[in-house]
Amino acid sequence: MELIESRSIFSPATGFIRRGGFEWTCNPYVGCTFGCSYCYAAFLPQNRKPPSEWGRWITSKKNAVELAQKHAHKVAGAPVYMSSVTDPYQPVERGLMLSRGILEALALHQPRLVIQTRGPLVARDADVLKQFQSLRVNVSIPTDSEAVRVQFEPKAPPLEKRWDALQQLKDAGVRVGVCVTPTLPVERPEAFARRIAAFEPDVVVCQDFHDAGGRFGADTGATARELLAETDWGPDHYRRFVNAVRALREVFEGEAGFFPPAIEPDA
Ligand code: SF4
Repeated sequence: MELIESRSIFSPATGFIRRGGFEWTCNPYVGCTFGCSYCYAAFLPQNRKPPSEWGRWITSKKNAVELAQKHAHKVAGAPVYMSSVTDPYQPVERGLMLSRGILEALALHQPRLVIQTRGPLVARDADVLKQFQSLRVNVSIPTDSEAVRVQFEPKAPPLEKRWDALQQLKDAGVRVGVCVTPTLPVERPEAFARRIAAFEPDVVVCQDFHDAGGRFGADTGATARELLAETDWGPDHYRRFVNAVRALREVFEGEAGFFPPAIEPDA
């Protein structure tokens, strides 16, 4: 692991995150050791290493907490997305606690915060997360099949641990979203839809995972395309799953699902 001194910790939002209504992004790390096969972040200019090395390196901004303490006032009340080019709750966070330290600094200034993660470690910080008046923790659960998860994101945490984290957060009174993004092959669409609906998350997001023919997206990586080609998953399967969820509750698709949390009436 490389440790660097960073010049900033809050950056102006760009691209679909900006279009979604966020003003700032916050990335405590560069790189991601979860190394999902379909990760578009591997191809972003912030990541200076070849995409073929994605998942095998991590750079930590060792002064992230000090920077957050100094600059958190700038994002007071503003919509912040954490994180856009990494996962804030990947394994190294357990010891470094950069994401936790940033949250402690932010809680004093109450931005409208979305945390996006595959890491069950996020539940560790429920005590800080519940101090925010306008916050949502989106946990990515892209399939109901552990076998599919192992195929497409072998180094990311097991699905049931993510469900456990969601439950812990919800029990602590933290608002949560379930992001079936990108929607990987689903084994039992109706049963998965029922499980999601029964959990009653604040937000459900799905995103079609298909071979986009080289257009930049979640399937950009060659490995993801090869894995997808080995399955019979296609747009019709995705639509069947989304319709099953929609029959039970509201569901957002693609970019439409990435929006800041509402301002609470008593905030
Ligand atoms: S957890 Fe997120 S940032 Fe990390 S590799 Fe997977 S998709 Fe990319």
